[in-house]
Order: sequence, then structure tokens, then C-alpha cells
Amino acid sequence: KASVMDGDKFDYEEAEDSLEKSRSKSALEALQEERKKLPMYHYRDELLQAIHDHQVLVIVGETGSGKTTQIPQYLHEVGYTKHGMIACTQPRRVAAMSVAARVSQEMGVKLGHEVGYSIRFEDCTSEKTILKYMTDGMLLREFLGEPDLASYSVVMVDEAHERTLSTDILFGLVKDIARFRPDLKLLISSATLDAEKFSDYFDSAPIFRIPGRRYPVEINYTTAPEADYLDAAIVTSLQIHVTQPPGDILVFLTGQEEIETAEEILKHRTRGLGTKIAELIICPIYANLPTELQAKIFEPTPEGARKVVLATNIAETSLTIDGIKYVIDPGFVKMKSYNPRTGMESLLVTPISKASANQRAGRSGRTGPGKCFRLYTAYNFHNDLEENTVPEIQRTNLANVVLTLKSLGIHDLLNFDFMDPPPAEALLKALELLFALSALNKLGELTKVGRRMAEFPLDPMLSKMIVASENFKCSDDIISIAAMLSVGNSIFYRPKDKQVHADNARMNFHTGNVGDHIALLKVYNSWKETNYSTQWCYENYIQVRSMKRARDIRDQLAGLLERVEIELISNESDLDAIKKSITSGFFPHSARLQKNGSYRTIKHPQTVHIHPSAGLAEVLPRWVIYHELVLTTKEYMRQVTELKPEWLVEIAPHYYQLKDVEDSYSKKMPRGAGRIQEDK
Ligand code: ADP
Ligand code: MG
Repeated sequence: KASVMDGDKFDYEEAEDSLEKSRSKSALEALQEERKKLPMYHYRDELLQAIHDHQVLVIVGETGSGKTTQIPQYLHEVGYTKHGMIACTQPRRVAAMSVAARVSQEMGVKLGHEVGYSIRFEDCTSEKTILKYMTDGMLLREFLGEPDLASYSVVMVDEAHERTLSTDILFGLVKDIARFRPDLKLLISSATLDAEKFSDYFDSAPIFRIPGRRYPVEINYTTAPEADYLDAAIVTSLQIHVTQPPGDILVFLTGQEEIETAEEILKHRTRGLGTKIAELIICPIYANLPTELQAKIFEPTPEGARKVVLATNIAETSLTIDGIKYVIDPGFVKMKSYNPRTGMESLLVTPISKASANQRAGRSGRTGPGKCFRLYTAYNFHNDLEENTVPEIQRTNLANVVLTLKSLGIHDLLNFDFMDPPPAEALLKALELLFALSALNKLGELTKVGRRMAEFPLDPMLSKMIVASENFKCSDDIISIAAMLSVGNSIFYRPKDKQVHADNARMNFHTGNVGDHIALLKVYNSWKETNYSTQWCYENYIQVRSMKRARDIRDQLAGLLERVEIELISNESDLDAIKKSITSGFFPHSARLQKNGSYRTIKHPQTVHIHPSAGLAEVLPRWVIYHELVLTTKEYMRQVTELKPEWLVEIAPHYYQLKDVEDSYSKKMPRGAGRIQEDK
């Protein structure tokens, strides 16, 4: 009997194996068939000829035509990868990951082998990699290690129309290396039709247009402005679901929080309707969505059901989801805004441009006629929206980019070949900040501190905080804090039905009013003590996924510390040392309490408030340092720690004078006086 069993088992595995092979073979064949249906496919040979004939080519084609997934494969098929890798840049990390996953499937290879991706803090490539999808920021960093990009045969700057800061800087750098690397092919691809600007910039490079197929889209406006666009979006989704013919829905929201709220409400309301309606499959997609959930948005919708995709701007042009027939566009996007006068940067929800609105509408008409529901009035659209989105370079803090350029030996920034130059004021502000952080000397040259800072793929203030931790002998603690800050605001979670429990659990880490930075350190260390326990995370209302990401980031930062020869030392009990180290990076972000409970930033006075989620929100210390500002109903400081004003003068004597930090009214005012209730 036993031998029969063995025999059975053997046969069974064999059969399973060959079944798997034939299954994946037919899946592969099916994918090959799909590739041929893309608009791009009909122009394959013509395109390859044009690339052969010209060093620089601008490629324009409707979103979903196959630029990102197909062009690198075509180039590989005709041998370009024999002379080096093909880089394809994406402005968004989710797009880089998702597209790489798709292309690896189409090529029948394992992700990370021949086809890989590289995003900040995550390198999914190997020696085998020939097609490398990467964020534009990562390619920018590769210049630091390889200024001529010698390991690449082709660089495709994709989604060029997005005009992110990194893409704009890449333009200048790749244009420059193309001159002394005639063998390098440069492709600039974009989804918008006004490609002349790219062509002009790249010395009149030819434009290759892929005629798109677009079906008519019926545009609907609201008759009056919506007071609550989130609610309006949810109601509209449900209305479409119950009244409209089959076809999936795409809703544009501004960020993770909003998407999660919408998801919750939609689930609740559809549950209430029970079996009276067809199944509604809810698919969120945003930058921090865990990889295993990202694939869900691409799964075909089962017969009889309908899919509603709740997406950030990522679905505007970066990702194409097949089957969308209805688009709901509330008309907003979360954008960075920067005031070069004060040097203050903040995230805020802003109206989109007309160009964006039209791109969004177009997403519904890819496979057949579509409908777009704009949750604003026609008057708004015609009179209030800007024509185009302002390129990021003109509305952001440039310190990071200036540090990178300086590290590349590019000194004359005012004469850098920008497609659209940043405001001179913003450039000066960046130089000023880097000087204040001691990354540049008076002549604007990179210092040793600056060189070390540039090794870290972080904002200069964070890198400075890390480099300074050497002096305060707390590098081990500081990189944990830096890693936790880099994860973003997704460490703690707060389920609607357990808010009190969640808040209590969170406040446990704030014992002694240590401030948010130290609290984050405590969270990290406690988790580590439990040997990275998932159970512990559940019990403390902490997102285990975010913690794992923090651990990955921390590991990489530890590696970089070694590179800049800073010893890993913990000084956990000396909180002042840790806070001083934070101050060394973040001293420009200091604020002082006002009589009415608000704060005033020190250097460029502006009124700000402690975010209700901060541990010190009810304590209101006299002096604080903050990580970032977010503008919602008010200008809020997020991640706040108490500070001793004398540290500012001690740590940044070139930036603060004694008079800046004199506590003129402090004697008159008791600690914590004048707190505001409405914020809680
Ligand atoms: P473009 O870059 O021109 O906008 P893409 O190459 O991204 O076009 O997309 C081509 C096709 O590949 C689209 O139909 C899209 O739906 C499909 N696709 C892209 N990424 C994925 C993915 N991760 N999973 C499934 N399909 C995908
Ligand atoms: Mg694309």
C-alpha cells in the first residue's frame, strides 16, 4: 500500500506541476494576446525605428495606451538591454511597483529578477534586472553614485506631464549626459497633448504621437456647490450603482484618511441595503496601500457586481484600471504649497486644474462611452479652475534638490537648465536653510556635514538630525525616530467604535509629556522588546504594517550611518540629548506659545496650532519644535516636542540670537494657560 501511496503522491505532484506549467503557459499566452490589443502595439515597429534614428524622442499617448508597460519590453525585445538596463521613471511609488509587477507577469518572470523596481527604502532588483521601474527621485539619487548612468542603455522619463520636482531636475541632468553619451537613448513620455514644450526643451526633439482611442464622455455638473464633497461622492456612487447600467466607478479623493472614511461609510450603507442591490466591491488605492492589496483594483469585476475604486490622484494618469465607465470628480487634490518668503511648506487640499479635470473625465471613456460626475458647478469649472497645474518646482521647498545638485558638483544653480525655473527666492531660501544646517559654507560649497547629509535619502532637516546625533551620542535612538517619522501618520489607528481605547493606548507612550518624537521612539522600542510582536501591535492600536516598514527603513538608515562612519550608540535615558539632536535638524521649526493658546513661529512669525493628535495638545508647553505643518481648518503643527529656548541659541547661534528667544511675557503667564477647547 505504502508504495502505491508513494506512487500516487509522486504522480500527483508531477501532474500538479505540469498543470501549473500549462496553466501559466496559457496565462502567459493570454497576456501576450492582450498586449497586442493595446494601441501602442500597432506602432511598435515605427516607434522602434524612430528611437533607432533619434537619440531623444518625445512620446505622447493617451493614458492606458501602453507606454509604460510596453515600450521598455519592445526595447528589450530588439536588444537594447544587451548594452545596459532600461530605466523607466514614475512620479509615484505605487505606480512603479504596480507596473513592474504587471510587466514581470507579461514577461513570465519573477518580480525582482529581470523586471524590478526601485523606490525609496525598497529595492526590488537583482543582478539579473534589465527593466527597472523606479521613482524619479530614485533615478535622481543614482546620479550620486553613477553620474553618467553608465549601467543604462535607455532612460525613459515617463509621466513627464506630471512635472514633479524630481522629474524636472532629471530633465536637466539627462539632457546634459545625453550630450557626452551618444549611445544613450532618452525617451520623454507624456499623456498630454502639448508635447511641444518638451520637444523645445530637448533641442527640438521629434515627437512621436500614438493616436488614442477615446469614446465620448458625458459631463455632468452639480447645480449648486457641494458643502461636503465626500458625502456627495458617496451618495453619487450609490446612485450610480442602483440606477446605471453595468460599468465600474472611479472616485477621486485626496488622501488615505478620506479614502478610508469613504470606504467605511460605503460599506455601512450598502450593508444597510442588504440584498436589495447588486454587490458593490470597494477598492481603495493610495500611496501607502499595502502591496498585497494593490493588485485587487486590477482584478476583473465578477458578473453582476460593480466595482468602485476610491483613488487618489494616482488614478488620474499613472494607473489605468480597465472597465471604468463612471468617474466621480469632487475637484480636489492634496498638494504641497510653499511660501518662499517664510520658507514654510504645508500640505493642503486644493482645487484641481482644468487639465486635471479633463484627464479625470477621460478615465471613463477608455473602453466605451463614459460618464463623468463633477461635484462642482459648470460655472466653477469655467471660471475658477486654473488651466494647468503649476509645476511642483515652483511651489515647493528646494532644499533637498539643492543639496543633491551640490553633491553632484553643480554649483551655479541660478543658471541650471530648468524647463521652468523655480522662483529665485525659493532657491535662495534653500541655500539659506542648507547654510543654517551647516551643509554649505559661506561660499555655498558643500561641507563635510553636507556631504554626510546627502547620503541619506531624506529631507535635509531629517538628515541633519541624524548626522548631529553623533555629537549627542544617540544615533541609535535618532534613526528609530527618523524611521518612524518617515512612515508618515499611519502608526496609530483609531477605529470608530473604539476611539477611547485607542486614545488611551496612544497616551500611554506619552507618559511624562515627552512629546511626539520620544513617544514614537518608545513605541518602536516597546515593539522591539516584544520581539516585534503582532499581538502587541493589536493590543496597542498600532498598525503592524507601518511598524514593519519603520523597521525596514531603520535598518537602511543604520547601514547609511556606517557609510558615513557614525557609530551606532543609544542614549535612551538622556531625553535632552535626543531632543537636542532633533533640534539640530529642526531648529527652523520652532514656535512659542501665545497668550490665546496659539503658537507663533519664531523666525518668520506666523500663527500656528498644535495638532489635536499631538501628545502635547493639552499641555501647551511654552516652546516647541515641530516636524511639519498641515493646513486644514487651521495651520497645524504635527509631531511636536517641547524645547528649551536656550538650546536654539546653543545649537544654531548663526540662526537665532538671544533676543529671538527671550521669554518676555512668560513670567506673567502660568503654564498651560489660555488653552483652547475647540481644537480637541
Ligand atoms: P500608459 O502608460 O500608456 O498609460 P500602461 O502601459 O500603464 O499605459 O497600461 C497598459 C495596459 O496595461 C492598461 O490596459 C492597464 O490596465 C494594464 N495594466 C497596467 N498595469 C497593470 C497591472 N498592475 N495589473 C493589470 N493590468 C495593468
Ligand atoms: Mg503610464
